[in-house]
Amino acid sequence: MPAELHAAAVAARGFMPTDEGDALWEAAAEAARAVPGRPFLEVGSYCGKSSVWLGAAARGAGTVLFALDHHRGSEENQAGWEHHDADLVDERIGKMDTLPTFRRTIHDAGLEGAVVAIVGDSPTVGRVWTTPLALLFIDGGHGHEPAHRDYELWTPHVAPGGTLCIHDVYPDPADGGRPPYEIYLRALDDGFTERRAVGSLRVLTRT
Ligand code: SAH
Ligand code: MG
Repeated sequence: MPAELHAAAVAARGFMPTDEGDALWEAAAEAARAVPGRPFLEVGSYCGKSSVWLGAAARGAGTVLFALDHHRGSEENQAGWEHHDADLVDERIGKMDTLPTFRRTIHDAGLEGAVVAIVGDSPTVGRVWTTPLALLFIDGGHGHEPAHRDYELWTPHVAPGGTLCIHDVYPDPADGGRPPYEIYLRALDDGFTERRAVGSLRVLTRT
């Protein structure tokens, strides 16, 4: 990964630890080799931190990342919750808006040619999506319903030989919420093969 892109990823605002981001980049670079010509899609971009790692891999492979987010924040990003940042609220409407920060992150990383934002609700887009994916990264809503719905709607689009990455997978309930771990178990059950685990990131492939 080019040094200036790595620096941009590390500096970006968001929830992706550097070692996990680096593993994500490697998984994406490999996915592009395994399934040439197909795009990547990320569910849950927030301010674009993971998008820089994935976008860097996309650009390097001559493909693109679709970065899907409604930019209104997950439940855990709302006022009063643990992961809330008051300066990400659009005062006029009193709702979160991470899209301006996301756009700045992608612009400053020089990745506007490789990262295409899709601003909308994951199931609304997922229900009409038809393009096979070289890589799918699930990091959207972490509640039971959103996580399982993202799993059900999006994983059928992972191409044969393609890669599924899931973030915030915590086998020990003391470390974090259950739904990402549950959908990771579902993926194993559905025949995905685990390739790597770094922190809470799991990398699986459709074999
Ligand atoms: N990958 C990011 C963190 C994502 S946080 C990083 O590297 O920092 C989770 C994101 O999922 C939030 O930005 C939230 O707006 C988005 N999200 C939650 N539910 C969603 C839904 N139903 N549709 C689209 N985006 C959603
Ligand atoms: Mg996450």
